[in-house]
Amino acid sequence: MKLTVLTAAVVMLAGFDGLGAASAAAQEQSAAERDAAASERWRRWRDYNRYPGPIPTPEDWVPPAGPIRIGLQVGHWRADEAPSELRRIRYNGTRWRETAEWEANLAIARLAGAELEALGYEVDLLPAVVPPGYRAHLFIAIHADGSDSPAASGYRVASPRRDATGRAEDAARVLREAYGAATGLRQLPVSTRRMRNYYAFNYRRYEHALHPMTIAVIIETGFMTNAGDREIILGAPERAARGIVEAVKAFPVTRQPAAPTTGRQNGQR
Ligand SMILES: [Zn+2]
Repeated sequence: MKLTVLTAAVVMLAGFDGLGAASAAAQEQSAAERDAAASERWRRWRDYNRYPGPIPTPEDWVPPAGPIRIGLQVGHWRADEAPSELRRIRYNGTRWRETAEWEANLAIARLAGAELEALGYEVDLLPAVVPPGYRAHLFIAIHADGSDSPAASGYRVASPRRDATGRAEDAARVLREAYGAATGLRQLPVSTRRMRNYYAFNYRRYEHALHPMTIAVIIETGFMTNAGDREIILGAPERAARGIVEAVKAFPVTRQPAAPTTGRQNGQR
């Protein structure tokens, strides 16, 4: 297409001002096009590469300073506050009758968070929009599925498609096992592209995304549109929460810290 336009311009100019002027004009035009293409490439690169500097590698990974910190993200919670870079997440999420997905996610996250804090972990309950460059030992995005088919059921866990920590798939595997054991729900073998490309994982593209060194996973805890799954995710959220807590305790990076009461316990010996 571009080639055709250029040829037509050359022919038109050749008739008007002689061949030399025409080829100079053609050269000028293609230089301008090259410049435009280069600046377009730069604009795209910049839009998709918000993270400054080189992306660290798994060999560079070090845990964040301080006590073991767990970020529990409540899927879709306060999503209407999303900045314009994340405007497409503002009104997403599934529902069951009067219950919005974020309410189910929040109930599970609160229960898991309280249990983790009792065990001595630092816990951040995060809304749909995460703080820019959020850093933690482990980040778990909590969601629920929905389907037009009431028969669709099961949970699934995914790690980011681009994982700079090299440890996220390990965390996902631990969560798959622990969540299945705690809930008895069916594990779906497929983690979707949508999950692996979750916006909070995409620090290249979004300012409001995790730090590349934050180990991250996302869980779809079950289908709100399935009666059996609802028995757990709406009816017994403490079991879903237990699965998350057990995973945090079992994952080597976030192994259970010494409980705050350790001193007293030792004193009893
Ligand atoms: Zn969701």
